[in-house]
Amino acid sequence: MVLNKLTIAQASEGLRNKTFSSVELTKACLSEIKKTDDKIKSFITITENYALLQAEKADQKIKNGDEKNNLLLGIPCSIKDVILTKNILTTAASNILKNYIPPYDATLILKLKKQGMVMLGKVNCDAFAHGASTENSDFFTTHNPWDLERVPGGSSGGSASSVASNQCLYSIGTDTGGSIRQPAAFCGVVGLKPTYGRISRSGLISMTSSTDCPSIMAKNVSDTALILKELAGKDKLDATSSGQKVDDYSEFLKNENIKGLKIGVPKEYFIKELNSDIKNAVQNAIKKLEKLGAEIIEISLPHTKYAVPTYYIITPSEVSSNLARFDGIKYGYSEVCKVESYKVHKVDEVKSLEEVYLESRANGFGSEAKRRIILGTYALSSGYYDAYYLQAQKVRTLIKKDFDDAFQKVDVIITPTSPNVAFKIGEHNDNPLELYLEDIFLSAASLAGVPAISIPCGFAKPKDGKIEMPIGMQIIGKHFDEKTILKIAKAYERNINNINLCIQKK
Ligand code: GLN
Repeated sequence: MVLNKLTIAQASEGLRNKTFSSVELTKACLSEIKKTDDKIKSFITITENYALLQAEKADQKIKNGDEKNNLLLGIPCSIKDVILTKNILTTAASNILKNYIPPYDATLILKLKKQGMVMLGKVNCDAFAHGASTENSDFFTTHNPWDLERVPGGSSGGSASSVASNQCLYSIGTDTGGSIRQPAAFCGVVGLKPTYGRISRSGLISMTSSTDCPSIMAKNVSDTALILKELAGKDKLDATSSGQKVDDYSEFLKNENIKGLKIGVPKEYFIKELNSDIKNAVQNAIKKLEKLGAEIIEISLPHTKYAVPTYYIITPSEVSSNLARFDGIKYGYSEVCKVESYKVHKVDEVKSLEEVYLESRANGFGSEAKRRIILGTYALSSGYYDAYYLQAQKVRTLIKKDFDDAFQKVDVIITPTSPNVAFKIGEHNDNPLELYLEDIFLSAASLAGVPAISIPCGFAKPKDGKIEMPIGMQIIGKHFDEKTILKIAKAYERNINNINLCIQKK
């Protein structure tokens, strides 16, 4: 049995039956990381000693028979480096925070710690989560484990590559405008962006506060459901977190019947720019769901075409405000650096105070962060505010209304996750706008705050490559109705007898 290839449910069963220990499982992941990460480059920081310590604690709890129903106990994961981890380097993959050691944990980290998580380390992303490929990381680009010449997607690219390559069993990232769904699609894993407010944002390095969602990446739908239950819920540290009751998603998935559920297929998402293999794969998946008893209804989301331009006004506006706190003085250097004992991997050693002061906004921000600061400052400036920001907010309301109207008629909406499979590293280097257009099927759900999941639904050979790359299908749901999108996703996954489509094929 290759331990690091197991799903959470399988690993948890093995731990409880004492087939193997959490320390053995953790060592299997760490050795996979050591074997493969020079090429894949998922990790910014590997917390080896910390992980083994957490695994020992988990084994002790299992031995004592404590927390029998806690399926995340002792399971190794990776965490996107925009999520604060107390006393552990958290960089947002940016130079300006290259030496930042947070003094507190994000709420979701506290919740995972309570569950007995084993954190293997912090994974790469586009700096401050700005991007769709990890090429905007200030440190290095992560590679797609399917084809190392290609991007893993982004911004949560390190999350996706670490799960897809079995370096860990699951990962927590963020999705502000597609950053979980698109890399999940590119790497052939499951990626869930919950409803805005479902999981607390406290302790995220903010990108766009009005769309940031802590999000989940896992090897299958059931694993995703059980993580969501643990992370969801009201948090007094985040006023925008919701007090809406948290469903028992795993329990709900036990009922396999999707008969009578209505699936909307929006015509605006099956455009001519869509790769034909992706179109066929998603349409075949929809037919399968129809065979399983779902009713398919063509719908229209008429403001879809405005989603990307609206997103790229609102997002930089919020980014310019959120990044104002990084003034090169308050962040960048921490006394805690000196006592930090975890191994820092691939990032330079801690600098002197004087050197850190040189990490000014001019030097510490990469070109994409600067581009967004400039765009946002412009859109918010007097004289342009009404023309751009205010206008974009009005269109955002219309985009949300599209979903409200559609959900009067259907239970979920199915679309492709991305118009293309993973592209080659460097392909869009000359034109950031091309990269923005990668978000074409993703921005609308983010602006509307509705939940959406991407699941693998096939493979396509890119025009410029020989290796078949994974395709993702997106299932969008009503606010706080994660259980129905998970149910449809699970029905599809089960029906194609595909617990772990990509990993098995590999
Ligand atoms: N591609 C989007 C962007 O660059 C996604 C960002 C995100 O979800 N963090 O803004």
